Amino acid sequence: MNLCYPFINPPLPYAYDALEPFIDKKTMHLHHDKHLQTYIDNLNEILSHYPQYQNLSLEQLLRCADYMPCDIKTKIKNNAGGVYNHIFFFNNMSPLETNYYSFTLADYIDNSFGSYEAFKEKFTDAALSVFGSGYAWLVQNACHKLKIITTANQNTPLTLNLCPILSIDVWEHAYYLKHYNKRIDYIDDWFHVINWESASNHFIHCNCL
Ligand code: MN
Repeated sequence: MNLCYPFINPPLPYAYDALEPFIDKKTMHLHHDKHLQTYIDNLNEILSHYPQYQNLSLEQLLRCADYMPCDIKTKIKNNAGGVYNHIFFFNNMSPLETNYYSFTLADYIDNSFGSYEAFKEKFTDAALSVFGSGYAWLVQNACHKLKIITTANQNTPLTLNLCPILSIDVWEHAYYLKHYNKRIDYIDDWFHVINWESASNHFIHCNCL
């Protein structure tokens, strides 16, 4: 994700209603146009006062936030995280049925977790276990092992030296309009719109770039 200041909100790679009936149009409008836009506006506003950081990429901002002045490091971490996590999440969904088994990543998932079904169960449990707001992720660690982790709020796996492959946003704003308080229904629906091609590209990036 080679995004730099001033950050702009990239359009969704599909129509707002394209993920219906699994993710509804109104949620996608609010999530992309309001929630992500606010993180982008906040990040640009902070960086407008710090020209020395304006040349850093989004990923560099996230990796360097802990070394920045105390009055901005949490704001940078939260807002750059909000931008990174949302773009990653939106790009990891698709209205087109992408066939899990047509990508090499499927072999690695099957070897790591036993089967697609076992992976799905473990990933679902992780997504359900997030207390409050956050994300569940499929990541690759430094030893090239696939892991399922959760992060709170807008924390990212990048600062844990983990390479992200797939994520689900389980903040309530991601599902409350359609699924109300039933996060499990949202997670079940989300599995129908996973973009396995995108996940596979992340997996290749983790290993080859
Ligand atoms: Mn969100």
